[in-house]
Amino acid sequence: MRAELEEKRAELQAERADLSASTGETGGISFGKRVGEGTSFAVERLSQVAAHDRLGAMQAEVVRALAKLDEGTYGRCDVCAEPIAADRLEARPWSIRCIRHAG
Ligand SMILES: [Zn+2]
Repeated sequence: MRAELEEKRAELQAERADLSASTGETGGISFGKRVGEGTSFAVERLSQVAAHDRLGAMQAEVVRALAKLDEGTYGRCDVCAEPIAADRLEARPWSIRCIRHAG
């Protein structure tokens, strides 16, 4: 389980690095001369930023799940301490909250 989570963490790290590289640090949303062009660029950039945020949030969960392994609370909800459903853990081994407290 730990190895699986650590692998996932590394994978997310790599994906985020890729996204950062493709969006670039020079950044800023610039609108081109042709409105359509600028808009689609802006939309694409916004979706990349959203993807980056999503990956970051997921990575934080993976890190927390690893900490829960150390604490011995892995598989239990961080909010109510009830066991997390097995099928939920199977789909997302880094789940740190039950279905009621997810999101
Ligand atoms: Zn809960």
